[in-house]
Amino acid sequence: MAPIGTATQPLRVAIVGAGPAGFYAAERLFKETELVIEVDMFDRLPTPYGLVRNGVAPDHQKIKSVTAVFDRVAGNPRFRFLGNIELGRDVTVDDLKEYYHEILFSTGAQTDRPLGIPGDDLAGSYPATEFVAWYNGHPDYRECEFDLSQERVAVVGVGNVAVDVARILCRTREELMKTDIADYALEALSNSQVKEVYILGRRGPAQAAFTAPEVKELGELADCDTFVLPEEAELDSLSLAAMANADRADVRKVEIIQELSHRQPSGKSKRLILRFLVSPTELIGDEHGHVRQMKLVHNELYATEAGSLRPRATDRTETLDVGMVFRSIGYRGVPLPGVPFHESWGVIPNNGGRVIDITTKEPLLGEYTAGWIKRGPTGVIGTNKPDAAETVENMLEDARAGRTLEPSHPTAEAVTSMLDERQCRPVSFDDWKRLDEFELNRGKAEGRPRVKFTRIEDMLAALRS
Ligand code: NAP
Repeated sequence: MAPIGTATQPLRVAIVGAGPAGFYAAERLFKETELVIEVDMFDRLPTPYGLVRNGVAPDHQKIKSVTAVFDRVAGNPRFRFLGNIELGRDVTVDDLKEYYHEILFSTGAQTDRPLGIPGDDLAGSYPATEFVAWYNGHPDYRECEFDLSQERVAVVGVGNVAVDVARILCRTREELMKTDIADYALEALSNSQVKEVYILGRRGPAQAAFTAPEVKELGELADCDTFVLPEEAELDSLSLAAMANADRADVRKVEIIQELSHRQPSGKSKRLILRFLVSPTELIGDEHGHVRQMKLVHNELYATEAGSLRPRATDRTETLDVGMVFRSIGYRGVPLPGVPFHESWGVIPNNGGRVIDITTKEPLLGEYTAGWIKRGPTGVIGTNKPDAAETVENMLEDARAGRTLEPSHPTAEAVTSMLDERQCRPVSFDDWKRLDEFELNRGKAEGRPRVKFTRIEDMLAALRS
């Protein structure tokens, strides 16, 4: 076989999933100087950037500016974006093996983890992931309905997603107008009756998963007073001892929480209450099957043998009147057709990003993974850079050693013809740039950073226009 990775025989790589992990992997691949590499990046949506577009909170526009890095990657002449092409619907893994030497799956984590308590499925109880995708204008979630006529809401979990959800519920119309929140969500949230939002942590302030800047921001909302109950802001003796070795960021986080516990109401129209050491045990519905109350048990912390502090139920309970509940206890990956999947971990089984057979643990030739579907839903966007780099190092090592797939049609043109024959019309990066321009112009007209397309038909119609 002729050597792969030359100008006449480039190493052809398919990346499935155009989020941060996929782009960071492409960026790292293009840094390789010894091998000539071509990348085709597929996404089931016509738009790139994955969670940066559909997950990052709309009032965190600065974080979204990372797309400039991805645009530079997309500007490489050896890069193609093939949007609106779905694995399993339009192409299969077996198809890809006929066109690429290496395939990398970076599809993220699309679903949520259930609470597993009675009443979890009542009307008015929602996964936070759906709310996030809805307010960000993800085409698959635009038709979701959230009962914003309720006055009291609980968000379960104290990660950054729970903070995002609570903050968006507590923002004013004026605050939301400055964001690229989906237009229908802007209208629905402007008419929302929500007055009181609880964020519920099962452990104490020192173990909260959110980060210091995020909790600080909760204390700075235009028309919402944020509180912590003084008795729940106090650290227990185990947490106090652990804080002795805590890093600066965690110390700062606890300081901010304790500062919020000294706040007095200032007459703002909404209230956000951060609770600690409580776990929901049941959601109680009314005669229409709509959530009305949440039963909570108070927890205490204990140290495991490994030294971590875990929550344990006490005999103290309470009932919270709430008409809406968001569970925000972590995202979860979904299996891709034709790709191994670890059911209990919700990830593609892998060794340093090399996909492995779940039983033999042997690497599968030419298959790789990066991002949340590789390591689980942890870390910030930047975490995907070293994560993707690890995978790409292994891809390059395998390519240099000749351990690649042997595709029968390893050319960009062959992929185009195959998609053409199937009457699939991929959305290119240039097409996306036109959509981007449309969105920015629509935003300008309304005094907003962007007004997103939220229907795939509308995106395709705009491209035809
Ligand atoms: P996360 O950070 O893993 O937080 C999950 C939360 O759910 C934790 O507080 C966890 O508590 C709690 N939890 C888990 N099981 C529970 C149960 N059965 N009952 C009650 N609580 C439970 O997940 P995330 O908020 O979904 O965020 C995912 C990742 O995206 C994180 O790395 C996050 O930092 C990142 N992110 C970052 C930003 C940002 O930078 N602004 C924004 C959004 C997301 P325990 O700790 O007790 O398990």
